[in-house]
Amino acid sequence: MNNYGIDIWDDGNFLIENGLAKVNYENKPSLLSIVKEVREQDFKGPLLLRFPHITKKQITTLYNTFNASIQEYKYKGTFNAVFPLKVNQLPSFVHPLVQSGKEFNYGLEAGSKAELIIAMTYNNLNAPITVNGFKDKEMIHLAFIAKEKGHNITLIIEGINELETIIEVQKQTSLSSPNIGLRVRLHSGGSGIWAKSGGINSKFGLTSTEILEAYEMIKEHDMINYLTMIHFHIGSAMNSIKPLKKALRESGHIYAELKNLGANNLNAINIGGGLAVEYSAYERSRFYSLQEFASDVIFTLKDIAKQKGVEEPNIFTESGRFISASSSVLITPVLELFSSEYELEHLNLKEKNPPLIEELNALYTDMAKRTSYEYMHDAIDYMESLLTLFDLGYIDLQDRSNAEILTHQIIKQAINKLEVEDYEELKKLDENIQEKYLLNFSMFQSLPDYWGINQEFPIMPLTHLDKKPTRSASLWDITCDSDGELPFDSKKPLYLHDVDLNKEDYFIGFFNVGAYQDTLGMRHNLFSHPTEVNVIFKNGQIVLDKINESQTIIDILEDIDYDTSDIEKRLKENLDINTYKILEKYLNENNYLKTIWSYNDK
Ligand SMILES: *Cc1c(COP(=O)(O)O)cnc(C)c1O
Repeated sequence: MNNYGIDIWDDGNFLIENGLAKVNYENKPSLLSIVKEVREQDFKGPLLLRFPHITKKQITTLYNTFNASIQEYKYKGTFNAVFPLKVNQLPSFVHPLVQSGKEFNYGLEAGSKAELIIAMTYNNLNAPITVNGFKDKEMIHLAFIAKEKGHNITLIIEGINELETIIEVQKQTSLSSPNIGLRVRLHSGGSGIWAKSGGINSKFGLTSTEILEAYEMIKEHDMINYLTMIHFHIGSAMNSIKPLKKALRESGHIYAELKNLGANNLNAINIGGGLAVEYSAYERSRFYSLQEFASDVIFTLKDIAKQKGVEEPNIFTESGRFISASSSVLITPVLELFSSEYELEHLNLKEKNPPLIEELNALYTDMAKRTSYEYMHDAIDYMESLLTLFDLGYIDLQDRSNAEILTHQIIKQAINKLEVEDYEELKKLDENIQEKYLLNFSMFQSLPDYWGINQEFPIMPLTHLDKKPTRSASLWDITCDSDGELPFDSKKPLYLHDVDLNKEDYFIGFFNVGAYQDTLGMRHNLFSHPTEVNVIFKNGQIVLDKINESQTIIDILEDIDYDTSDIEKRLKENLDINTYKILEKYLNENNYLKTIWSYNDK
């Protein structure tokens, strides 16, 4: 049996029971039962299930852990947090998040004008909003308007020019200014693949000279009371805590020095995001706990405040991945197993076959447990020779087809015989006996970080979890792009089950996909987002909420600026009305593959 590393990555959110992957919450429904319920409503193709209760658990854990550390160290500052919208801006994620965060005064972070509009529309009124990223005058004016609406908003400046613009907007509009934060350009870098967000060569933040310059400029314009926050962000998915400690020291001293210079209202350090989640199904890749993270932050800041004789700063975090990643699961139906094309019924041996094929046939008929490993090995060798013979013109297409069928049948039989007896021996041949699973989804749309930066995601089938998976698997998506593949990797091997898809569905789950994937995904081959559903628990029942079906073909074409009435007009030409009606129905379906085709369907 193989538990797909669930005890490493699942953080208690899921469990395996009676061979099924289940949600570890309330009545513990199986993921399969949820998938069936959605599909009964005629939503086929890939599914993205969101679990708002998991997001809520993450928010609660974050606050409780920091607040516990604050008590332990008798720290005098408060803990505050915002969700960085770039990690997931979709309404069906954001609305429940804002709702769940209300009791903690959890806020939002915006990095662009559109995100700022989301924040000023939906943020709980007293909860903080922070604004990062490069800003023009209009964006800065938007922040003034948010303040006017009553929001508790802080503009974190990335450069002196932004400060100049704040001063200008204040003069021109006579509106009261939002709070001002300074993003520092650390000399210490980050860790993990995103390390370039921090460090002296970072794209972001003020150098020490610029910080002093900014301070003078703020003072000169009588705005010192608005300077409230020091900010840094050392990059996403920190796998070790050491760079954070360095960054805390550096920014803690900047905070303390500015306070001692006369920044009276400076009261907060915003430590950005970067809390990692565990994506690996093989060995841990995150080397700290949230508890350690929290106590390091508090201990370090307390120490600096004491050393420099200033108040202990309030703490802000902007962790996004930690809050959202575990709350979504992508579920893809398997459309086909590559070897299913090699069924025995298609074997068509001749009266007289080439000798190597006779050999293969003998291996197939004689196979016993004792000999299966050896026979499988031989079959693979013969197959290679036969392919060479085909290329040289010595065997014909029928021979080749027979050879392929026999080889695949030998492999299947050998695996069946060996799985119990000699699993380890079997694994040695993984590379040669891979099964390819064709999945009804697009890697580019649904796992863009796998495609772009080789981000690993935990993978687990939803069923058969009480049986040993015997096939070394590579996964293919349905785009016409050879990059749409998750190849078998013998260092991190994935094994799946040998299933007969004519008899049952087999679904593969990709876990921890709730951070960044939803809006980074791209419409390669015009595959739009999968059908999305929020799974809500109410009195022991699940409710499927905010179902958002994958876009129809005509909507996708409209989105990329085709004139849909022109499309319809042209398609109508030369077709009788009944044929066009069918065509019209197809235009109004989504782009993923359907396994059932019914001609008479209305
Ligand atoms: C991206 C970003 C975050 C979120 O980072 P995570 O790794 O998702 O926690 C927080 N703050 C800033 C400024 C960012 O750019």
